[in-house]
Amino acid sequence: MVHEAVPKVELHCHLIGVLTPALLRDLRADGHPILVEPEAAAPVQFGEGPDGFGRWLTRVEPYKSAGWRTYLPILGWYIDKLVEQNVVYAEMMISPLMFSRDFGALAQEFEEFRTWVREREAGRIQIEFLFLVPRSLPDELIEKDTQRCVFLAKDNGISGISIAGLESHMPASRFSRMCRELKDHGLGIEIHAGELGGPEEVCEALDVGFADRIGHGIRAFEDEDLVARLCDEQVHLEFCPTSNLKMGAAKSIAEHPIGRARDLGMNFSINTDDPGAFGCSMTSEFELIHRYFSFSKEDFSKVAQNSLASRFAKELRCKVAANLERAQSEVVALA
Ligand SMILES: [Zn+2]
Repeated sequence: MVHEAVPKVELHCHLIGVLTPALLRDLRADGHPILVEPEAAAPVQFGEGPDGFGRWLTRVEPYKSAGWRTYLPILGWYIDKLVEQNVVYAEMMISPLMFSRDFGALAQEFEEFRTWVREREAGRIQIEFLFLVPRSLPDELIEKDTQRCVFLAKDNGISGISIAGLESHMPASRFSRMCRELKDHGLGIEIHAGELGGPEEVCEALDVGFADRIGHGIRAFEDEDLVARLCDEQVHLEFCPTSNLKMGAAKSIAEHPIGRARDLGMNFSINTDDPGAFGCSMTSEFELIHRYFSFSKEDFSKVAQNSLASRFAKELRCKVAANLERAQSEVVALA
């Protein structure tokens, strides 16, 4: 396949969303405790929509509040899967609930967590983390979580945050101060918007949420002025095609805006969102896009270049990812 020769970059993946029955069976076989029966993680089917995804999350509920040690073998399994798919850089959304609220313990736990991940990367890939902030977060916790994020912004900590959840019920404006403060501390801001909510949600994420990247952004394409703005400002959109179809954000693959985004020279990535929950992989997403929109090797190279340039981590520690960046800048210089 045309995409196989092009290294991939994933910017939108929830750690809890990688759970699959096969992974849980492997964990059990290796002697790791599992918190739900493997069948509980069976993927959401087409047509099930947000309710189906809600049911999936309920079935894996114990993992929502599981500690970071529980997630290590899961993360290790996924890192190996990413490497197999020629992914050289990935940002993953993790729940702050994985770590202690006490700052002293938090620093130590996060350091152990990062050291473990660094070893597992083994120079093959670079994994960075974003703290997930649910839109439903109570007001009284917003300030506390802001201070935790500021604390973890230093020394190989998190590289950004991601605000996710039901859009219209919980406006991004509630997080305006948090986003401003975190941005001032060098953290990247990603906001899921324009997935099920309309174009106005995307405008709000940009204007009062100070978003550097928009998760999904599918419904932004209902507003031509907004599309023009996204083009002009080269706002990065994180497309997750199978998720967009299963959640009903796009009615069919033919109606997915990714082909138009390519034709307009927009800045976007191709991601899985929740590869376990939606039964997809980076490879399957690239194949889908190649099949329906005839993406060429050059189109996929451009996706990799834009994705890497839109990353939240400042440095590229991984030589493979750094080589990709260098090779792309040379191509640009030659053009
Ligand atoms: Zn997401």
